[in-house]
This record gives sequence, C-alpha cells and structure tokens, in this order.
Amino acid sequence: MVVEFKYIVIGGGMMGAAAARYLSQRSDGVALIGPQEPQDYQSHAGVFASHYDEARITRRFDADLLWASFAERSIDRYREIEDASGIPFYSEAGCLFAGPQPRSDADYLYRATGIARSMGLDVEKLQSTSLQSRFPQFAFPSHVMGYYEPTHAGHINPRALVRAQTVLARRGGVSHIDAVVTAVRDEGSRVCVEAAGETYHAERVLIAAGAFSNINNLLPRALDMRAAPRTVVFFELGDAALEVFGKMPSTIVFTDREEDHVYILPPVRYPDGKTYLKLGGDIETGDLTRLEDLQAWFRSSGNSAERERLIETALQLMPALAGCPTSSAACVASFTPTGRPYAGFTGSSRVAVLTGGNFVAAKSSDELGRLGSVLLLEGGLGEDDFGSLMIPGYR
Ligand SMILES: Cc1cc2nc3c(=O)[nH]c(=O)nc-3n(C[C@H](O)[C@H](O)[C@H](O)COP(=O)(O)OP(=O)(O)OC[C@H]3O[C@@H](n4cnc5c(N)ncnc54)[C@H](O)[C@@H]3O)c2cc1C
Repeated sequence: MVVEFKYIVIGGGMMGAAAARYLSQRSDGVALIGPQEPQDYQSHAGVFASHYDEARITRRFDADLLWASFAERSIDRYREIEDASGIPFYSEAGCLFAGPQPRSDADYLYRATGIARSMGLDVEKLQSTSLQSRFPQFAFPSHVMGYYEPTHAGHINPRALVRAQTVLARRGGVSHIDAVVTAVRDEGSRVCVEAAGETYHAERVLIAAGAFSNINNLLPRALDMRAAPRTVVFFELGDAALEVFGKMPSTIVFTDREEDHVYILPPVRYPDGKTYLKLGGDIETGDLTRLEDLQAWFRSSGNSAERERLIETALQLMPALAGCPTSSAACVASFTPTGRPYAGFTGSSRVAVLTGGNFVAAKSSDELGRLGSVLLLEGGLGEDDFGSLMIPGYR
C-alpha cells in the first residue's frame, strides 16, 4: 500500500524534527521518517545521530554572521519551545571564549568581536587578571584574555530539544514513522520514498539525515561533505569537583597551538545519574564514507590517542579535575567546504537537503528547521535567510 503525504522530512534529528514542527504549523499531510536512538549501540545495525548526548554549547558570539544570526533566532525561541512542549532543555549558564589577544581579521575572536558589535550583543571583554579572578576554576596562561557572553548563551540538552520538537510536531498533526529510508526517487509529478518495506509519496521531500545524508540512496549524487570522527572525554565529578566547577559557563579555549583548542561543557547530570564535565577538540581528521565505518565509529569510545591528549589538556586548564574518573565517547561532525550548512534543492525541484552542521548546528537547529520548512513550502530561501550561501555542493 502506498501512503500519500504533501511533505516528508527524512531524519528526525535536530534539524529534521524542527523542520517537521514548522511544516505542521503551515500545512497538513506532513510525515517525519526516522528512527529513535538505539537502546544498544553494539547490536544496532542501522543509522546513528550526532545529537545522542546531554549537552551542547549555545552562544551567539561567532565569527560568521550566518551562524551568529541563526543562533540568535533559535535562542530567542528556546523558552517558547520549552513552555509549549513542557520539556526543559536550555541552561543559560553563559559562554566564555578564552584566547590570546586577536590581532587581525584572520583571528576568529577578532571577527566574532566585530559581528557581536554589529549585532549589539552583550559580550564582556576580560583582560587576563579579571579573567582569572572571575573564573578561578581555570588556570589559563597569563597572555590569554576572555570574551564572556553572560546571557543568551550556555548549553542545551540536544536529546531533550529533539524530543520537544518531535512532541510539538506530532501535536501539530505530523505522522512520525520510526523507520530508516532506503530510497528516494523523483518520479516527475511526485517523490517516492521507501522505508522498511513501505512506499510513501510526497509532493516535496526534505533530507535531513545529518552525517548519514550520503548513505542509503537518499541522494542521486553525494554531497561534498566530510563526516569527521570526533572523540569526547567525560570527567565524572564528585562533590568536591562539583563545588569547583558547578557554576562555570560553557567554555571554548583557543590556546596558541591549534591542536590544543578545546570546548568544555559545564557539569551536567547524565541518564546514569552521574554528573560529568565534558571536553572535546577539533583536530581529528578523516571522512567516514561507508555505513559500516560510521557504525563502527559510533559503537566505539573514540580514538584513544585523542582521549589522552584531551585529558592532558583538561588537567592543565582545570587542575582540580585531577583524580576524577574519565571515560570517552565517539560522535561525528559533518563539515562542508564553506563551513556553512547546506539548505537547498538538489538537482530535483522536489527534493531538498538540510544538513552540514559543521560541528556548531545544535544551538541553531530550530532556525535551520524553520528554513527547511520554508524551502519545501515556498520553493527557496531569500537573502534575509542567507539562502545563496547554503546552496548544496556535490562531489
Ligand atoms: C562531539 C560533538 C560535539 C558537538 N558540540 C556542539 C556544540 O557544543 N554546539 C553546537 O551547536 N553543536 C555541536 N555539535 C554539532 C551538532 O550536534 C550537530 O550539528 C547536529 O546534531 C546536526 O543535526 P542534524 O539534524 O544535521 O543531524 P542529527 O542530529 O545527527 O540527525 C540526523 C537524523 O537523521 C536520521 N537518519 C539518518 N539516516 C537516515 C535515513 N536513511 N532514514 C531516516 N532517518 C535517517 C538519524 O537517525 C538522525 O536522527 C557537536 C557535534 C559533535 C559530534
């Protein structure tokens, strides 16, 4: 039996669930097709997602106006989504960038400062001594200064945000189908989508399958996008460490050597009942192009050399972490050559793509979802929405 919809969103992750919610506000006949998080990673033979975690940094301070704008638009709506869904996901803990004095446009912090000024963001600049006294949890090198965004910044729980978007999408009439899509075909007057032995038809389809967008015959041509492995380290905090780190902001550290750049999430309680401080970096190379390789990586606990490097960096920056038990996990970040997301139509005017989070899209996923809905409903994005900067590229 064939089931007919107006719009189908493929992938119920951060962008897809948001897109489905927005579509439901303006149309009936919407389906969201995508699987839940697997209970057991080791025996799971399907796709995974990049939001299986409890904390992602959120901030407006960014060196790219596109990302800063998408973050601002999303953050402004967090409380509304929490209230409507009854699911809390946002902690306004603030966000701190620490790094050497930026000197030119080549420096991230220099560009971000200019954009913050143009957007009227409240970002405090802290010289080394005030940085140390405001944030005594850290042992920053003496030449490092800070940029602190106290409000409209902090961290979100990505699993909870996806749950909230999904609840609201369903409430808006979206049919949520728990299945993996294995084929998408533009048949001229409609698009045919196959998932778990069923066939679905729609007038338009949005592919929001994250790092798995190039897998499972979703697209006729592979997107020019790198599915990069990322390792994160968790420090399990006892009461003494919690006392030290309990009130820290989300923190991003740009030290002199690029390989030492890290981002740090404040202590967050995880489903196992324990509280962890999480840390990750941005230097791992590689491109996971096959389903088997992505699955094997998601089932692993990341790269052991990267894990050791992150632990060493963490202990230098936060000496009070010494003695805390550590563990690690694997995730995948989807990078485009432009550093910006893809939100546009493929060769077909009925099939659009929304992906390319570039390691920073969790915070902005609500706005990206809105843009995905506009693509399907209106057939394109205008310049207020940075449409021409997000045209998908192919290999
Ligand atoms: C370690 C790590 C740390 C990060 N930290 C931050 C941060 O601090 N702040 C921030 O803003 N961002 C951060 N990010 C980035 C952010 O998590 C991602 O950009 C975001 O999850 C991307 O959303 P998405 O919807 O594109 O993909 P996902 O959230 O991965 O969702 C894709 C969905 O598609 C589904 N899917 C895949 N294939 C199919 C198929 N064939 N059929 C049906 N469904 C399918 C999957 O099941 C999944 O639910 C981080 C990423 C990583 C890896």
